[in-house]
Amino acid sequence: MTENADKTKANEELIAALKKEAADAHAEVEKTKKEIQAAHAREMKAKKEATSKEEKQTSTLTPPPEPASVHGHEEGKPHYIGAWQKFCPTCGDPNPDFKDETECADCHTHLGAKEVAEKLKACPNCGGHNAKRL
Ligand SMILES: [Zn+2]
Ligand SMILES: [Zn+2]
Repeated sequence: MTENADKTKANEELIAALKKEAADAHAEVEKTKKEIQAAHAREMKAKKEATSKEEKQTSTLTPPPEPASVHGHEEGKPHYIGAWQKFCPTCGDPNPDFKDETECADCHTHLGAKEVAEKLKACPNCGGHNAKRL
């Protein structure tokens, strides 16, 4: 083997090593890209979940259109009860102001005290307009 041949071989080895290094670096970049994408996807998912939670909370806290009373709840959160509702629709606690005096003549939904039924524009269950005394 001549000196030149040795040099050529050494050069080839060097080139191969550099190529491998470049390939490794490329793989590293691809890996990092994938990690960033995965992190981004996780972030979007978390955001989506947070948004849907917020929406849920908002709908729970929306007070009903009719006069509502507020009562304390286990977690200290007030719940809204329509004056015509015997129980809180959220937690099932009884409405302390409820008087069982009237019902809807059409669907027999109880509408509470006489003055409460008079204030209702329509039966909350069927939309009827015929409240009657029990
Ligand atoms: Zn409640
Ligand atoms: Zn009704």
